[in-house]
Amino acid sequence: MSALRISILGAGAMGSLFGGLLAEAGHAVELIDVNPVQIAAVREHGLLIRNDAGERRLTLAIMPPQEATTQPDWLIVFTKAMHTQGALESARHLIGPQTRLLSLQNGLGNAEKLMTFADASRIAIGMTTVPADLVAPGEVLSHGQSKTRAVMLDGSRDAALDALAAALNAAGLPCTVDPDAVVAIWEKVAFNVALNSLCGVTQRTVGGLGSAAEGRRLAHAVASEVLAVAQAEGLAVLPERTHATIDHALDHHGGHKPSMLQDLLAKRPTEIETLNGAVVRIAEKHGIAVARTEALYALVKIAEQSA
Ligand code: NAD
Repeated sequence: MSALRISILGAGAMGSLFGGLLAEAGHAVELIDVNPVQIAAVREHGLLIRNDAGERRLTLAIMPPQEATTQPDWLIVFTKAMHTQGALESARHLIGPQTRLLSLQNGLGNAEKLMTFADASRIAIGMTTVPADLVAPGEVLSHGQSKTRAVMLDGSRDAALDALAAALNAAGLPCTVDPDAVVAIWEKVAFNVALNSLCGVTQRTVGGLGSAAEGRRLAHAVASEVLAVAQAEGLAVLPERTHATIDHALDHHGGHKPSMLQDLLAKRPTEIETLNGAVVRIAEKHGIAVARTEALYALVKIAEQSA
């Protein structure tokens, strides 16, 4: 397999992990970020990766957008959703005529943002269940099995996406090119809207939420609202699959603090707009009531303001 040129826009938990593993597999990777602490840590000590394959330190190029010059084969966006637009604007000079863009970010509306920077025939979107935590600057932790699915936005079969999927697989990040990736995106949105906003508002871990029967019922009811909106969008989501994933998380990921809870505790903005906010706006278009999702949206917005 020939080496790909891959730039990662947003080298936090996910970007560092994907970038690090792809570099380890022999690809020419550049990490791009605006956080001077993360940049200094990776430059001085390398990137420490700890996953099921063990612990190692990798030497990796990392820079702020204005210092980057390579127009890569793939620019993979891994900022939080509210930073996508700004990040792509500062990286516009890296998007060459052959450069493809990929977003595996959580939430809805990622494709629309990417489309202002490239033609749909050069954009892929998808979802990933890879977990990653930046435990310290330059130190990323990831454990367990995962799956990544991606599809070209225009539905075409693209040799470049096949090559990227092969690269991810070889790097230990199982990935399939999947025409149903948009279904998977919505099912994950249902999961995230339920668990992220409920844990954020109640300030409880996933296990804390699941330990109360009311918490479990509410999580499933919120997910059902989101899945009904997905069905109105014409997507063949499988509600039982999402509910089973929620039950699994409530039962087995007890200590996990979803990112929205972590963000609220750290007084950072959350991804609420691309989760509950986006669902509420699309539901409105279809005339569907999503009262619980909307109430959680308002509660998280209030919590964000007081942060
Ligand atoms: P993160 O906060 O750890 O990393 C985001 C990075 O983007 C930070 O390093 C930040 O400095 C950088 N950034 C912000 N503005 C930028 C800009 N203008 N230019 C360049 N870089 C910029 O977030 P994360 O946990 O890696 O999540 C990234 C995305 O992946 C989110 O959409 C998240 O929901 C999704 N996701 C996360 C996980 C996970 O386990 N962490 C799993 C699946 C999906």
